[in-house]
Amino acid sequence: MIRAKGIAAFAAKQPLGPYAFERRDPRPNDVVIDIKYCGICHSDVHQARDEWGGSQFPMVPGHEIAGVVTAVGTAVTKHKVGDRVGVGCLVDSCRTCESCERTLEQYCLKGANFTYNGLEKDGKTVTQGGYSNVIVVDENYTLRIPDALPLDKAAPLLCAGVTLYSPLKHWKAGPGKRVGIMGLGGLGHMGVKIGVAMGAEVTVISRNDSKKQDALGMGAHHFLATDTPDALKAHAGTFDLIINTVSADIDMGPYFQLLKLDAALVVVGVPEKPLSIHPFPLIGMRRSYAGSLIGSIRETQDMLDFCAAKNITPDIETIAPEGINAAYDRVVKSDVRYRFVVDMGKL
Ligand code: NAP
Ligand code: ZN
Repeated sequence: MIRAKGIAAFAAKQPLGPYAFERRDPRPNDVVIDIKYCGICHSDVHQARDEWGGSQFPMVPGHEIAGVVTAVGTAVTKHKVGDRVGVGCLVDSCRTCESCERTLEQYCLKGANFTYNGLEKDGKTVTQGGYSNVIVVDENYTLRIPDALPLDKAAPLLCAGVTLYSPLKHWKAGPGKRVGIMGLGGLGHMGVKIGVAMGAEVTVISRNDSKKQDALGMGAHHFLATDTPDALKAHAGTFDLIINTVSADIDMGPYFQLLKLDAALVVVGVPEKPLSIHPFPLIGMRRSYAGSLIGSIRETQDMLDFCAAKNITPDIETIAPEGINAAYDRVVKSDVRYRFVVDMGKL
């Protein structure tokens, strides 16, 4: 086994701290990755604090992993030692179900193997994530990081980037489409940059004006602050697609009125409590209420190549591993512009 060190949550709502554990020796299709950077996703906070229920401890969070290959198994063809690679939210899946056959492994019918707070394919080994110095992953679930993307800025693309890229693509964001992004956080700011690069007319829908200049600087065409009276009413029936990245439970009712006939509101944010809606805003204009989970390995590679070609990177604040607990508190207060990235080399 490979000795690994990490930063783990040991119980819900307690500070994270140092943790020594083991990674498997590389199998024929595995690559061993020296982790250089790992982003902090709000999902890490939800799970480390057991806000979704069922969290397994000790838990090494982190699914926005960027690093360098240090060893490869005997059958590996995709990578060689020294390659810059990424790992996102998935480290395996059944590979044979209808979803996997369609290269949509995140929707694996047997349940994808998530990077942490999940189980490996043996059904018993707990997966541990990227707040650590090393990870061993099957080459089919690793990503190639294009040379144009620095590793620290590539990290947040592995979850935040693809979680917005996937629904923007699926619901056909592009020229002539009005797209709304609810919540300008880690996910939301990637949605703005990617949506604009796809050619859509993008509006940020945020709680107040405090992020307006940032949003316009990222290329957003419009900014809607929901604390202004009647802000939403003035834009009723004008959006083709809205993606909700908000991490808290909010009243969804008013947002459906923003959609055109047949348009969709796609939720990607996962608050602790259910989001309730009344059917009237949906049935009135044949609107759809949909959801989307991260993205597949293929979509993630497409997104990385797209971001490299279009010169898109996240806005990051780099911290040392000792700063993770303070960063969690700042994520919850939305006091981050716009993604924390942990320098794992300092572990
Ligand atoms: P984040 O950086 O904290 O951003 C969330 C944004 O939500 C904030 O910036 C804020 O935007 C808004 N917000 C926060 N509290 C709010 C409140 N009380 N009322 C209204 N708006 C509020 O989080 P993130 O990392 O982008 O993640 C967002 C959510 O997506 C989380 O729930 C996370 O678990 C989930 N997620 C889902 C997937 C998926 O596959 N579906 C993948 C990754 C993450 P404003 O300040 O602009 O209002
Ligand atoms: Zn995430």
